[in-house]
Amino acid sequence: MDLSYGDDAEAFRGEVKAFLNAAWQPGERRRDELKAYIAEFRTNATGHGYLYRSVPKRYGGSEQPVDVIRAQVIREEFQRARAPMEVGGNGMNMTVPTLLEKGTEEQKELFIRKTVEGEYIWGQGYSEPGAGSDLAAVRTKGELSADGSTWIINGQKIWTSQGMQSTHMFMLVRTEPNAAKHDGITYLLIDLNQPGITRRPIRQMTGEGGFCEFFFDNAQTPVSWQVGERGQGWYVSRTTLKHERASIGSADGLGNQFDKLVELARETGRIADPVVRHELARIEGFVMAHRYTSFRLFSCAAAGEDPGPVSLMMKLALTEIGHEMALLAQDLAGEALLREPAAAGTRGRGPEKWLDQIMGSLGNSIAGGASNIQRNIIAERGLGLPRDLAMQAER
Ligand SMILES: Cc1cc2nc3c(=O)[nH]c(=O)nc-3n(C[C@H](O)[C@H](O)[C@H](O)COP(=O)(O)OP(=O)(O)OC[C@H]3O[C@@H](n4cnc5c(N)ncnc54)[C@H](O)[C@@H]3O)c2cc1C
Repeated sequence: MDLSYGDDAEAFRGEVKAFLNAAWQPGERRRDELKAYIAEFRTNATGHGYLYRSVPKRYGGSEQPVDVIRAQVIREEFQRARAPMEVGGNGMNMTVPTLLEKGTEEQKELFIRKTVEGEYIWGQGYSEPGAGSDLAAVRTKGELSADGSTWIINGQKIWTSQGMQSTHMFMLVRTEPNAAKHDGITYLLIDLNQPGITRRPIRQMTGEGGFCEFFFDNAQTPVSWQVGERGQGWYVSRTTLKHERASIGSADGLGNQFDKLVELARETGRIADPVVRHELARIEGFVMAHRYTSFRLFSCAAAGEDPGPVSLMMKLALTEIGHEMALLAQDLAGEALLREPAAAGTRGRGPEKWLDQIMGSLGNSIAGGASNIQRNIIAERGLGLPRDLAMQAER
């Protein structure tokens, strides 16, 4: 197996390293200074073609040809130098790719640059109290104003990550109550800072208040902020979810997490326990399998080939391995986890720091489509098995 990237990629790596040595020297700075320094660095890195490669220059990107090997080299070198990559979150992972694929010129001009620059922060307005796995059951209502220029929105969204910080939302609303379930939905963008919208934080078991629920009471958004055709929002939402699952399923970071688990076994003096060693070896097998599968996907992408059903498995595999690690960490850390009921981020540095990871692993297996739904997708689209009976009955 040849795991090298080839001479061209290595020469390119040299260029990226030289750039980072010269351009990324954060040193000791005050918080506000560091923020400005990072923004300046991102602009510089974009100018060199290292960041926002898929985004056209006219919207603030560097507009580079698709080259997965170069993109990977950049990621590796930026991570090694601990240099900031693109502004992350829903905006870059979901809104921008969706607008590039399905948005109007006006929408691209209005939203992409400000999202790239971090001014617009996006919440994902999909889930509702009665619509999660069965997303097409959304009931939040969109009705056209009398002059046909504005959507008037009434209803509720829930589990919005980063909801308290979000300035905007991409959302699914029911606009055709009499159409077939999947055909009556429209995909809208909306400004969240307006009188018809109330948001409330939801505290998670980790202590964090990152989630939010939103109430829409005659909230408004212009018809020109509708993405795709009226009633076709379900199909636009598939674009967004594809990007969300790809970002959740990436193998980056899993190896580091495993190293920390081994460290925890050492710290707690359990590393010599044969049962713990057996568990570590078992989990390491999954971690390596996931890593090599990601290499396989990477090779297919570099060769312009379709990887087939294996790409459907990445999100499920990653979250399952994360959960396995969390279970072992829970066993290793034991009572230390009971020591500090403090808010997230304020916990100590001992084994108790695993608490967020352990609790968070449950959330990861639900976010972006719960594990059983992923299994259905793999079975139906990957293996060609018959459709889920519940879903069959609906369509
Ligand atoms: C960390 C996190 C972040 C999130 N962020 C957002 C966000 O920003 N925006 C947003 O809109 N939503 C967000 N969500 C919500 C998430 O998309 C939903 O929780 C998820 O789709 C599941 O929906 P539900 O909670 O209603 O559970 P349900 O749909 O009620 O599912 C409950 C259980 O039943 C199983 N199940 C349901 N239907 C089937 C079936 N047909 N076959 C087999 N099993 C089935 C599921 O697998 C699950 O185990 C987030 C959730 C989490 C945990």
